Amino acid sequence: MSKFLIDKYRSLEAYTPGEQPKDMQYVKLNTNESPFPPSCGVIEKISSAEISKLNLYPDPECRELKNKIAQLYGFESDNVFVSNGSDEILSFSFMAFCSEEKGAIFPNISYGFYKVYGDLYAVDYKRAPLKEDFTIDVNDYLNVNRTVVIANPNAPTGLSLSVNDIEKIVSSNRDSVVLIDEAYVDFGGQTCLPLVKKYDNLLVVRTYSKSRSMAGARLGFAIGSKDLISDLDRIKYSTNPYNINRLTLLAGCAAIDDNDYYINRCSQIVEIREYSKKRLSQLGFEYLDSDSNFIFARSDKIGGEDYYKKLKENGVLVRHFSDEKINDFVRITVGTKEQMDTLFCVTEKILKEV
Ligand code: PMP
Repeated sequence: MSKFLIDKYRSLEAYTPGEQPKDMQYVKLNTNESPFPPSCGVIEKISSAEISKLNLYPDPECRELKNKIAQLYGFESDNVFVSNGSDEILSFSFMAFCSEEKGAIFPNISYGFYKVYGDLYAVDYKRAPLKEDFTIDVNDYLNVNRTVVIANPNAPTGLSLSVNDIEKIVSSNRDSVVLIDEAYVDFGGQTCLPLVKKYDNLLVVRTYSKSRSMAGARLGFAIGSKDLISDLDRIKYSTNPYNINRLTLLAGCAAIDDNDYYINRCSQIVEIREYSKKRLSQLGFEYLDSDSNFIFARSDKIGGEDYYKKLKENGVLVRHFSDEKINDFVRITVGTKEQMDTLFCVTEKILKEV
């Protein structure tokens, strides 16, 4: 830390992204990326002719991409906001809709960035505890007069709330924004997008990083009432109007054109997830019944941190969280069948040694 950093950031605890070690080739099951490449349409779109246009700024309005997303989900393009990864939408939303006066509420076990943005923007936030079984208690979010932020399915548990429960939360908080982060919804969760037509306080956030195999392109989008979208635009045009680069815009459009490819890839991941749950049970693991592209699992034979470390020594990366409420678990991203079989093979070996 330099002596120049201003006081309010000195105690800020920044988000720690999943590790990306370069010392060897790992089976990488730690950051919930897709194990599959983007569709052919995306790959072909990033041509050298397009690369040679990088001297020009991208379209700040992202019109074509917004139109395509709007059409796919049955909205108007004014209902769509696009961003440099969905993290940017979360950041803009905390800036736009949360403060010391207008507090926020989110689960105590959820995506770690909610707390970081809460701290960064000096928000009065509350972290509602999950129930014993790691599900969200809907009652904690009714009539709260705070901006509500919920990942559905939640991370790192993978557990979902029903659309019915989301509607209860949205309808009981008409004077607050309810942000539903659907980063993992394409792997079997139920989207609450239809509720956007009924409630002007609901903002649904999505990402291309998981189900659309484009974590490296950094693209996210949100769907909400035109007024909410214009609030996000106000922040975007006050920070970074060209937030999405030319190549990502092209890739984002091509991915929508190839939607069937991604639907198939998601089904494959769901199949591998269900297979992996069975294999984990056979190995004596307990897991939460994930609707996402990861499984949150623990074994009574080995602690979470120990298991994570031993896997890493054997070339397999998973994610471990040190929070004491969940430190006996590891979060395992669902990879290809081959990657998962490597994980199970290494796990068998590790369990024999403990
Ligand atoms: N929301 C949740 C729940 C996530 O797990 C992630 C990925 N780490 C994100 C949002 C952000 O994803 P991205 O910025 O890659 O779109």
